[in-house]
Amino acid sequence: MKMPERIRLANLPTKIEKLERLSQNLGKNIWIKRDDQTGMEVSGNKVRKLEFAVREALDQDCNHLITCGGIQSNHARATAAVAAKLGMGCTLVLRGEDGEDREGNLFLETLMGAEVVFITPEEFEESLDGIMEGIRDDLARDGKKGYILPVGSSNGIGSFGYLNAYQEIEDQERDLGFSFDAIVATVGSGGTFAGLYAGNLLSGDKRDVLGINISSTAEYFRERVCDLLHEMKEYTEIPFVIKEEDIQIIDGYPGLGYAMSRDEELEFIKWLARLEGLVLDPVYTGKAMYGLVQEIRMGNLDKYDNILFIHTGGIFGWTREGRGRV
Ligand SMILES: *Cc1c(COP(=O)(O)O)cnc(C)c1O
Repeated sequence: MKMPERIRLANLPTKIEKLERLSQNLGKNIWIKRDDQTGMEVSGNKVRKLEFAVREALDQDCNHLITCGGIQSNHARATAAVAAKLGMGCTLVLRGEDGEDREGNLFLETLMGAEVVFITPEEFEESLDGIMEGIRDDLARDGKKGYILPVGSSNGIGSFGYLNAYQEIEDQERDLGFSFDAIVATVGSGGTFAGLYAGNLLSGDKRDVLGINISSTAEYFRERVCDLLHEMKEYTEIPFVIKEEDIQIIDGYPGLGYAMSRDEELEFIKWLARLEGLVLDPVYTGKAMYGLVQEIRMGNLDKYDNILFIHTGGIFGWTREGRGRV
């Protein structure tokens, strides 16, 4: 099969470990893939997508990366790190206002030299593409060539990062001597899930890939993931048939909405941190793992013996606001 090329940025393969004490607590084997450890500055899931997307940017002779996200976007921070490492320029269009002192991802982006443009939620909703294209046009007037990455690098090319991760999991299963019955990932902009889903389809639909959405609705993401899978098909002759109704996304855990935490979610993160010495993030993995544990306790996942959860990172999202409530 023809696959797009990638550059090497992440520390791969990331390890898979069993959460012994959580497994005991739930009476079910819970394993975790440490994609929070793909690096430090470039940690988390976004670097896997950037390996493919930035390769495409370089192939098009681009020398400046333009992307966007929430004010504490992990993707924006990973992009800033990659741009600096490769000697490229970087402009980040973020939804929100500059604070008195920049912290978390925003602090790191500034440290690594990215230029940050702040826009309102309304502008983000209505004119994001135009704003990013405007930045690219301005760069062109200065003789630079910009490459635009969408939110979370979730497009066809970026999603190959998790097709690749799926194949990495299969290699690790050969060493472990067994296969996971289900792979569970957080759904934020959909690329991680789409890549895993494509990997599973390609390998013959061996198991269930489950997504847990942390914003919006399952219905929205089923459609979104379908679009991403079709975009992936344009890069390769992937021989699979995509059926929207087969895409399994567990709804019910966005809570108060994107980047807003409920007490029970923060309490859960604290409980798990003390049980396993494992720190999830409040925006993505904390909500998704909370959802997974609820589903297991309700008996909805009884048919699985071994479940693999992907820790997609997000440690720098622990800003003062999030911390204040733990
Ligand atoms: C972006 C992100 C996700 C969601 O991944 P998508 O591919 O956007 O769905 C999950 N966890 C963390 C920590 C993230 O930064």
